[in-house]
Amino acid sequence: MAKARNIGIDVKAPVKECTDDKCPFHGELSIRGNLVSGKVVSTRAQKTAIIEKQFQHYLPKFERFERRHSRIVAYNPECIAAKEGDVVTIAECRPLSKTKAFVVVEVSK
Ligand SMILES: [Zn+2]
Repeated sequence: MAKARNIGIDVKAPVKECTDDKCPFHGELSIRGNLVSGKVVSTRAQKTAIIEKQFQHYLPKFERFERRHSRIVAYNPECIAAKEGDVVTIAECRPLSKTKAFVVVEVSK
C-alpha cells in the first residue's frame, strides 16, 4: 500500500502517507455525491475541519442580495492536515459521525 488510491475525482493525491482507515486515499473510505469548496475556520477538534461557505441570497422585496454562510463539518485525514485559513475541497462520503459526512480531499491554497 505505498501509493495513494485513485478516488475517482480530479484532485492531487497528498504527498504524505497515513495509515488511517477513514482516509479516502490510504484507507477504505469511498466518496460519492457532492463536492464543495470553502475555507477552513476551525481545526480544534481532532482530525476535523469546519468549512465555511459564503453565498448570496436574493431578496425580491428589496431587489438586493443578503450574505449568508453555512458551515460543514468534515473529516481531516492526517496526510492532508488542512489548517485554519486554508481553502479546501471536501467530498461527501458515508456518515462518519453524528455531524460528519464529508472528508477533506485537497488543499488548494
Ligand atoms: Zn491518507
